Amino acid sequence: MDELKLLKIRQDKIDILHQMGIQTIEDLYLYYPYRYAILEATPLTQEKCTIEAILLEKPQTYFHSRVSRLFFTVLYEEQRIKVTLFNRHFLAKSMVEGMKITLTGKYDARKASLVASDIYLKPIDQCSAITPIYSLKEGINAKMLQSYIKKAMQYQMIEEDIPVSCVQKYRLLSKYEAIYKIHFPEVQEDIRQAIRYLKYREFFYFQLTMQYTTSQITKTKGISKEYDIHKLQSFIKDLSFELTGDQLEAVEDILKDLQSDKTMYRFLQGDVGSGKTIVATIGIYANYLAGFQGAFMAPTEVLAAQLYDSLCHTFKNKGLQVELLVGSHTAKQKEDIYQRLLNGQIDVLVGTHALFQEKVVYQNLGFIVTDEQHRFGVKQRKALKDKGVQVDFLIMSATPIPRTLAISFYGDMDVSTIETMPQGRKEIITKVVASTSMKPILTEIDEYLQKGGQCYVVCPLIDKSEAIECRDVQSIYDGMVSYFKDRYQIGLLHGKIQDSQKNEIMDKFKNNEIRILVSTTVIEVGIDVKNANRIVIYNAERFGLSQLHQLRGRVGRGKEQGYCYLLSTSSQELSKERLSFLETCHNGFEISKYDLSLRGPGDMLGNRQSGLPSFSLGDLSKDMVILELARKDVVDFFERNSQDSRWLLLLEKIRKQLEKNNQYID
Ligand code: ADP
Ligand code: MG
Repeated sequence: MDELKLLKIRQDKIDILHQMGIQTIEDLYLYYPYRYAILEATPLTQEKCTIEAILLEKPQTYFHSRVSRLFFTVLYEEQRIKVTLFNRHFLAKSMVEGMKITLTGKYDARKASLVASDIYLKPIDQCSAITPIYSLKEGINAKMLQSYIKKAMQYQMIEEDIPVSCVQKYRLLSKYEAIYKIHFPEVQEDIRQAIRYLKYREFFYFQLTMQYTTSQITKTKGISKEYDIHKLQSFIKDLSFELTGDQLEAVEDILKDLQSDKTMYRFLQGDVGSGKTIVATIGIYANYLAGFQGAFMAPTEVLAAQLYDSLCHTFKNKGLQVELLVGSHTAKQKEDIYQRLLNGQIDVLVGTHALFQEKVVYQNLGFIVTDEQHRFGVKQRKALKDKGVQVDFLIMSATPIPRTLAISFYGDMDVSTIETMPQGRKEIITKVVASTSMKPILTEIDEYLQKGGQCYVVCPLIDKSEAIECRDVQSIYDGMVSYFKDRYQIGLLHGKIQDSQKNEIMDKFKNNEIRILVSTTVIEVGIDVKNANRIVIYNAERFGLSQLHQLRGRVGRGKEQGYCYLLSTSSQELSKERLSFLETCHNGFEISKYDLSLRGPGDMLGNRQSGLPSFSLGDLSKDMVILELARKDVVDFFERNSQDSRWLLLLEKIRKQLEKNNQYID
């Protein structure tokens, strides 16, 4: 049943509301204006201006076919102005000489005349000065939408669900008032107060979801793991390099968690190439020494295969049986893996989300490492729980964010951070190139390719509709093919290419058969090809800085110097400034802090990759304080095991929502 029908809205309008993403009655009143137009007196100009004036005469009314025209003279700051107003003849009877009126329109100084688009028959300070502006679709105007919103708010009781103590502490409006005022403000203070409430609620709700999820995951006791410390130490000593201080600390955090009977739910963050994988691998080894199986999950098959190779290398001669499980394996191969996994013949399983499918049964899984895209691991956790296993969780992220934010974002998850890079790592030389194409750098790239190097070319993911301003991956590929002719093999990768074909292209790139790889960002950031040391990024202004930083981390992975070219012709000062920041800054934390101060976190990492929450009103670059207050408040409610009725109501809501999304664990 379509809820919107209950409001007696016409079906054709309901269809449009659906297109606007409004499905339920609640969606209607939660559809906030994105800004407000505020009526304020302005100077007389040709642009749209607003003035208060005195009506000097009764208006004359003219009709011409279906158009009416009101014509009158007003006095504005000792100046007589002739005013024309179309299709408002019905106002004439209410307009009397000498009254103060407010007009909006365009002024023509030469003729001393004003064509009015709006009129209010009262002084400006009595006008309802604030008009909410909504994002609308053809067929629905703001007035209609507001009438639907009113209906919705009358139909459904908007119940307060934030605990009384919070409302009192911060002197917040009620939920009903806040929602009413965000749609129907009378003065600017109404908007301010409404937003204050709604932001707080949004953050409170978000924190509650995060912390609730975490508490569900860690509330059961884990397994306390005992391992041979000498073996572990000699494993670390045998590595081909020495761990950095940050890496050692992260290793210690992980080992402590493994040893304790608390379930590990830890977040390991560090720049691309900061050496997270080896830290996680040490954890996997300790877990193996304690007699448990480990699972290492990568976001894509290509990355899983790469990870598998690297683990095989690290674990050479250590007696571990490492296996790769990906969707493209044949049924027979999979069957064989399932069998050996169940028998305990496999110690470490590497793969994509295939690792947690129903058919995959572990003998005694103890430790899982996943990538940030599976950040909460909640679904996997549920799947595992159904299999009766209690495991430790480590989630890795290559988009580091400041610690305070991390704590807010990841609930009460523990955080380990690798900030320093291994020694000898060269910074990627980064240049902003003011161009929409590679033309200015083609010779440079060509010379580099002639010497045997390889090159990435990355373009933003785009809709066809945007293709005019932004070159799409196919046309860039075509351009490169026609320029380089048969001199170099060029590969093309994008989201629609099948996994098996993707693997083939990646293999060819790794083997240096394909010399130039043109791709959208669907291509994995973790790819490691040491011979590829040039990366060109089209329309760089469309990416988040952290994302660009991740992308450039694909080059300079070996001994050679890496170069990154950011193509952009954006004329906006801000976006120029943002991009050139990357020329000088090479620290992921600094970059995310900087980007965060300019844009929200949703943007910061680029849409697909962020995985970070986006808030409808809350703005993390400005509202960190509210977020932090909300976080502490939620911690407090959990700690006190509060029985506040509204708190319990909210908890119930969250539980239902998680259950609906199949993310609830119990
Ligand atoms: P991340 O997973 O954080 O992107 P990796 O673990 O893949 O980074 O490390 C990148 C490269 O640096 C790998 O080739 C790895 O062997 C190497 N590496 C890791 N730690 C160190 C270190 N402490 N000193 C030198 N090289 C290191
Ligand atoms: Mg443990």
